[in-house]
Amino acid sequence: MTTNGDSRLERFAEAMPKVELHVHLEGAVRPGTLLRLARRRRVTLPADTEEGLREWYRFETFEHFVEIYVTCSECLRDPEDFQLVLAEFAAEQARQNVRYSEVHFTIATHARQGANAQEVAHALWESIVDAERRLETRVRLIPDIVRNLEPKWADLTLEWALDHRQRGVVALGLAGIESHSATPFREHFEVAAAEGLHRVAHAGEQEGPASIRETLEVARPERLGHGIRVVEDPELLAEIAADGPPLEVCPTSNVALGNAPSLAEHPIGRLLDAGVDLSVNSDDPAMFDTTLSHEYALVGDTLGLGIDDLAELSRSALRHAFLEGEERRRLSDQFEREIADLRDQF
Ligand SMILES: [Zn+2]
Repeated sequence: MTTNGDSRLERFAEAMPKVELHVHLEGAVRPGTLLRLARRRRVTLPADTEEGLREWYRFETFEHFVEIYVTCSECLRDPEDFQLVLAEFAAEQARQNVRYSEVHFTIATHARQGANAQEVAHALWESIVDAERRLETRVRLIPDIVRNLEPKWADLTLEWALDHRQRGVVALGLAGIESHSATPFREHFEVAAAEGLHRVAHAGEQEGPASIRETLEVARPERLGHGIRVVEDPELLAEIAADGPPLEVCPTSNVALGNAPSLAEHPIGRLLDAGVDLSVNSDDPAMFDTTLSHEYALVGDTLGLGIDDLAELSRSALRHAFLEGEERRRLSDQFEREIADLRDQF
């Protein structure tokens, strides 16, 4: 998907300091890297060229997307695989001036496929620390409970999250097929809250207001992944506009998976008009052939926003990030300095 050619907006979106709150590590693996890993792991993908992979990434339904996602996840097994994809992810975020990312990661899928969950955690943390030393970007992890997997995998995910919160884990997440209820995971989110771990949840992407209400009540998330179908219920929309939680909106993803008919008809404009606090995100950039910068430019282009509006959206993402005290202040000061410099240039 391309913008209508306001390259000034696209250049500003790229140069602007950014925070990303909704991006999946497994959905960010570069096609070339995925092909290399697949060969090494002897996983048969339906394509053996980057072009072929792009062709394969044409999703018919969310279930179809999950199938492809799980196949791609099979290519990651040994600690060095996770190290490689994390390092490449961090380099790409740094290239786009994304200073801080909170990254969804599905440890349960990898553990089910035979990966050693502890080794994976150590490998990811090593890579995070190394990236932080070399690049101007920081990465934190959000292990996701998967709605459509058996409860034992949720237990493993919670345990993994708690074990590694000093080593990169910042929150517990909820993902997967939304027609599966959030209720079986109530206790997991209660334990996370009691242990001082942040909570986020996907909802309102594939299912409507009833599922959003249930997820809010069960998981008490501090941010809602997608949440776009809240526009179907004026009362819920007003509640979320007044009291939150903020939404993480991923425009290209919603169009690619058929959750929005087109960018022009995407609910983001209505959400902003209703006063909903939200951030812009890329979700699975490699699978949707997008970048965070491009998502900002698309939103700007579609809604007729200017560079000040984009900067304001970037500040929102920073505000919704799980950053504390000194770290938040430092990044916030840096954002303001850089945005002021960029405004002079643009
Ligand atoms: Zn997501």
